[in-house]
Amino acid sequence: MKAFWKLLSRIKKYKLQFVLSIVCNVLLSIFTVISIPVIIPFFQILFDRVPDVMSIQSAPDGLTSYFKNLIYSQGKDQALLIVCGMIVLVFLLKNLFRFLSLYFLVPLRTGIVRDIRKELFDKYMALPMAYYSEHRIGDLISRITLDVQEVEVSIINMIQVIFKAPLIIIGSIGYMVYVSPKLTLFVIALLLFTIFVIGGISKTLKQRSNLAQQKLGNITTTVEESISGIRIIKAFNAETDQAKRFGRENEGYKKTISAIMHRQNLSSPLSEFLGISVVTALLWYGSKLVFSNDLLPETFFAFIFAFYQVIEPAKSFSRAYYNIQKGMAAVDRIENLMIQETKQMLKPIDSTPIDFKNHIKIKNLSYQYTNDEKQVLKDVSFTINKGELVALVGPSGAGKTTITDLIMGFYDVQDGAINIDDLVINNIEAHSLRSLFGLVSQHPILFNDTIENNIKFGINNTNIHDIINAAKIANAHDFIMQLKDGYQTIIGDKGMKLSGGQRQRLTIARAVLYNPQILILDEATSALDSESEKLVQDALTKILLNRTSIVIAHRLSTIKNADKIIVMDDGKVLAIGKHEELYHISPLYQKYVDMQGVIS
Ligand code: ADP
Repeated sequence: MKAFWKLLSRIKKYKLQFVLSIVCNVLLSIFTVISIPVIIPFFQILFDRVPDVMSIQSAPDGLTSYFKNLIYSQGKDQALLIVCGMIVLVFLLKNLFRFLSLYFLVPLRTGIVRDIRKELFDKYMALPMAYYSEHRIGDLISRITLDVQEVEVSIINMIQVIFKAPLIIIGSIGYMVYVSPKLTLFVIALLLFTIFVIGGISKTLKQRSNLAQQKLGNITTTVEESISGIRIIKAFNAETDQAKRFGRENEGYKKTISAIMHRQNLSSPLSEFLGISVVTALLWYGSKLVFSNDLLPETFFAFIFAFYQVIEPAKSFSRAYYNIQKGMAAVDRIENLMIQETKQMLKPIDSTPIDFKNHIKIKNLSYQYTNDEKQVLKDVSFTINKGELVALVGPSGAGKTTITDLIMGFYDVQDGAINIDDLVINNIEAHSLRSLFGLVSQHPILFNDTIENNIKFGINNTNIHDIINAAKIANAHDFIMQLKDGYQTIIGDKGMKLSGGQRQRLTIARAVLYNPQILILDEATSALDSESEKLVQDALTKILLNRTSIVIAHRLSTIKNADKIIVMDDGKVLAIGKHEELYHISPLYQKYVDMQGVIS
């Protein structure tokens, strides 16, 4: 029920279209009901039954007597034309309103879908990093694609079921009761039985369809992971393994959806058979009433037509019930995502941009990922003074990235503290905190866009001269100019069209342009050939100059001159010092140096 109100609050924004669509639905229902008695005069003329009607003293209704007079004044042919014209007119109006009701619904449907998608995407951008390690990407994609579609379908069904179907059903049944209460009672009893049988089928369909939705989510996740990891998959010859994994998900979905299809397939023949049985019973009983002069034949035709008008909206009830339930479940899933995460986000306590003046102090920092039992940082303390180049060295898994992620506020500090000058970072608004930092990560993050846009990523007020300048500092300008479209070259998904070194230099150019107060560098030159490595290394040296930097060092050459090297292992700081000192006091550091500087 909560989901229903949530949805209603979204509809509020499209009040006008909503009201217009409902008005048209009401008019559509009215003309649907009117279309029933309009066919009576046609049959009267066709079967030449007007004189008979004339002989009955009290005419059955106003419309009949109107046509009776018409026939006498205009003649049979003319009357037939007028009657046919009336039928066409009523159906024209009925269908005009049917079209208009859908017409006004379009901005509402598409608008709500757009609104939810936008909100979800904004949310995805705002969610804390921790959320992404605990949730599956496939699920998040399902929310913004499939679930949003279900909400849309449920809106249409809801409007139909509330504002159209009941009016048509009440109007048609009202007419049926007016014509023959006996026959109506008979038909309704049969109908209830049919609805009961079909209702049972759709209930189990609903349960299984939730399962199918979940399994489709698994497929999306696997495809997403496989495509984004295609290089690794190919590199490890794991195509077959991955295909098997996908095969299992695919098979699971196939089984569930097959069961659903069998039931769905059953429901149509079953409902047709039940339907035709009901109609035959109606024909049988109705004809008996005609034989016994309890019912006029032409009225019986109108009765059958009224009955036919009831079937579709009655059927739509069970379908709508199922779709609305599905839609509400989707609204719930979407809303859960919307509310849950605001709690975990950094609160905007102070959003003024901060100026880094003196130092970053890390005091007794311990950290544990929420989905992990192990402490990944244990009582870590050190200070980064303004202008210093501080390097983090240690084996993979030592906790180096976790420290930089905590400094950038990607995760909340749990134990201990990180202070930037006098501010505790938990109290700094996320945007102003992050505006301090520039990040060059181990795996260059690029987007399927032009080189220019990739370099000026996140920066609004810049010009091409600054971009070219940044590219020159990053040793990227020359290779960019050799590309066919220069700075306008689209670099492909994740920069696929560029070499590893070129990609890395673009991210360095991005950092140069961003000109952060503090640079965080997850140095990765190990994957590059020596030519690229030299260019990247050279670019890095330029960008590190005179800047506060935290470098996760994979190669010692960059950090030999660091002001402070922090040697870490297993979440603990083993030693802090300069290159020469550490060589003597830290066996681990000595080992790295002796291994010619190649670390993890
Ligand atoms: P390093 O950068 O030194 O290689 P990390 O800081 O990346 O080390 O990782 C430290 C430990 O934390 C590792 O054991 C790693 O498995 C774990 N870890 C890293 N990120 C997450 C995460 N998002 N969720 C759970 N555990 C994580």
